Amino acid sequence: MKKVIAIVGGGPAGMSCALWLKNLGFCPIIIEKNPQLGGLQNINPFHNTWILGIWGRTGKNLAQELRQHLEIECISTLLDSQVQRITKGDNFKICTADYELTAQAIVITTGQRFKGYETIKSIPGSHQLLRSPRVCFNPGAIPTTHGQVVAVVGGGDNGLGIAIRLADTAKHIHLFVRSKLQGFTMNQNLILRGVEAGKITLHKSAIIQSFERLGEKIKIVFKESNNQERELLFDSLCFRMGFAPNTEEIVQLFEEGGMGSLELNAGGYIATDAFLRTPIPNVYAAGDVANPRDPCVATAVAHGAIVARSIDEDLRSEQI
Ligand SMILES: Cc1cc2nc3c(=O)[nH]c(=O)nc-3n(C[C@H](O)[C@H](O)[C@H](O)COP(=O)(O)OP(=O)(O)OC[C@H]3O[C@@H](n4cnc5c(N)ncnc54)[C@H](O)[C@@H]3O)c2cc1C
Repeated sequence: MKKVIAIVGGGPAGMSCALWLKNLGFCPIIIEKNPQLGGLQNINPFHNTWILGIWGRTGKNLAQELRQHLEIECISTLLDSQVQRITKGDNFKICTADYELTAQAIVITTGQRFKGYETIKSIPGSHQLLRSPRVCFNPGAIPTTHGQVVAVVGGGDNGLGIAIRLADTAKHIHLFVRSKLQGFTMNQNLILRGVEAGKITLHKSAIIQSFERLGEKIKIVFKESNNQERELLFDSLCFRMGFAPNTEEIVQLFEEGGMGSLELNAGGYIATDAFLRTPIPNVYAAGDVANPRDPCVATAVAHGAIVARSIDEDLRSEQI
């Protein structure tokens, strides 16, 4: 009988791992909490220009094509499903609300989520921004800011990318960066070009002190590197505060199931060896949740393949 491998998370890493496992003679089952597979690419409306051999597709298009591929391969999938319990005897027993699976190995591919309101919650006045149509946290959204004065908060690629994009049509962009610019050199150069062209003002080492809604405008009080307090009025705010790994639930499940703790690294990502094994035997992690240096579809897909090869090696050597 084919060995069953449970894959928790149906983004590119989980889907790639499932395909490789099927090709290697296993029976993979993907457990995905959302109603459809695709992970973060489901919220990416931009052209994904980073994958060799695939061009002219948005992230959403790509997610759809990955789903179609798995359908053609008849890979088993539990959608709208979350793991509620994991225990270990000879094998792993994995329970969702509707199913109980027995699996020989578990792959964690739960990815990341973008950081939202929680990152500014402690700043005075932030509650006034909640549910405002002029405030945007979603890195997959392109707010309409034509002719507006816009604050973009965040110095990574998502912050730089949206600042560059909005600078074409906004009246002016103020880019707030806590320390220094961190995105790709190409994006940093485009920001500096926008600064030279007078379209973007860069506030480096800027610490936001407070927010205040004043009619249609939002006031930001902030301190820059010289420690001087300043205030500016904006029509729209765009927060691009980075990502956090989806590890809390899965870590708790392993602890409650008495299997020991998954090791986390400094950023809270799952620690693995070079072949993506966790310290818990037959438990693996792949994709963004395993903290690749370059989190993207290509690394997620590659991770999926590496884990499948590790499982093949480990479960074969257990038989010998
Ligand atoms: C706006 C945006 C644009 C991007 N653009 C690009 C780009 O152009 N090119 C590129 O290569 N990459 C891009 N990325 C990054 C890329 O989408 C990710 O690196 C990639 O999706 C990571 O794949 P993953 O499978 O590791 O994780 P994810 O895609 O995050 O998938 C994880 C899956 O696990 C599920 N999950 C989480 N917790 C649980 C749980 N407890 N139980 C069950 N399921 C769970 C989630 O619902 C999700 O479906 C972009 C990301 C964003 C947000």
